[in-house]
Amino acid sequence: MNCNIAVIKGDGIGPEVVTEAMKVLDAVGKKYGHTFNYEQLLMGGCSIDKYGDPLTDETVAIAKSKDAVLLGSIGGNTQTSPWYKLPPEKRPEAGLLKIRKELGLFANLRPAYLYPELKEACPLKESVAERGFDMMIMRELTGGLYFGDRYTKEVDGVMTAVDTLTYNENEIRRIAIKGFDIAMKRRKKVTLVDKANVLDSSRLWRKVTEEVAKDYPEVTYETMLVDNAAMQLVKDPAQFDVMLTENMFGDILSDEASMITGSIGMLSSASLNETKFGLYEPSGGSAPDIAGQNIANPIATILSAVMMLRYTFDLDKEAEAIENAVKKVLEEGYRTIDIAKPGEPQVKCDEMGTLIAERV
Ligand code: NAD
Repeated sequence: MNCNIAVIKGDGIGPEVVTEAMKVLDAVGKKYGHTFNYEQLLMGGCSIDKYGDPLTDETVAIAKSKDAVLLGSIGGNTQTSPWYKLPPEKRPEAGLLKIRKELGLFANLRPAYLYPELKEACPLKESVAERGFDMMIMRELTGGLYFGDRYTKEVDGVMTAVDTLTYNENEIRRIAIKGFDIAMKRRKKVTLVDKANVLDSSRLWRKVTEEVAKDYPEVTYETMLVDNAAMQLVKDPAQFDVMLTENMFGDILSDEASMITGSIGMLSSASLNETKFGLYEPSGGSAPDIAGQNIANPIATILSAVMMLRYTFDLDKEAEAIENAVKKVLEEGYRTIDIAKPGEPQVKCDEMGTLIAERV
């Protein structure tokens, strides 16, 4: 297969970790007979430095013409970097918001998987961590409370703020279909998280998702109220496979789920639109505190490339080969700075990439 990928290395540790992900992709391409064609683009601080703009329209147009975008991270030290003296719409993060909007990315996926070798980093009780977990939080990204009408005004002499939470059935159906499609590639279970005992929007989510579920008889479908889901995530995370939810609930629950895995350097993510197109990036930021030292953990970005293989290119076997290589490297005891226990030897960012590429 010929895979055309826009590569945005970005700022800080971005170039270091993306280079390693490309190394691993090339190894898998060599083994299974695929070609990955990369076109490198600028976004964030590096684009401000070159073009005076965090994301140019030309860059967006090129990204749109590819099958997928592999992104590192953007931004710098928000206290000291001159990028943060610019008006908000000219700062690095404006590039990120613009690319998500331009590409119509409405579904955000964040896996939370506990590697047995790293279970000591999990802040949950040993008896819970012992069982492990492997879930995918699927959050709606472009609707709901964060995008509804809002205003603050005085009503009868009292300051009153209003935010509105709106979803239409089409917005719900398109992400529900994605959720069930992804469950079919996993353990075939979808949990819809909502607040249907109170909110009309949640009741519409239930109605539409139930309809979609009928087209996926192999998938076990259940619903759960969001307050219960927040508890169940720390009590029994092993029960979840795909957790499907609206924007604000997903914002909160995906951070909770990340936290229980214990390491930011291991967390991948994907944002998808209605086609097979996706933007794949690590969940963490540009880590300016460790940038340029070749010590960042590239695994989050490598696992983001795994998601790209699986969800954009349907290369499931190849995705699994990389996942197994990552597991093997961890089993063999190799650790980067963020996942090493005190006193444990550490490998560099590029060494970690090479070790994984060699085991693909
Ligand atoms: P951060 O995620 O960059 O760093 C938080 C901590 O985690 C730091 O100590 C860092 O060294 C560590 N860390 C992060 N990724 C790591 C990795 N792969 N390996 C080892 N350690 C890692 O968050 P921050 O410091 O709040 O933000 C720094 C910059 O990144 C800011 O400019 C912020 O706006 C930006 N940011 C960008 C994105 C993105 O590009 N999607 C996301 C979040 C933050």
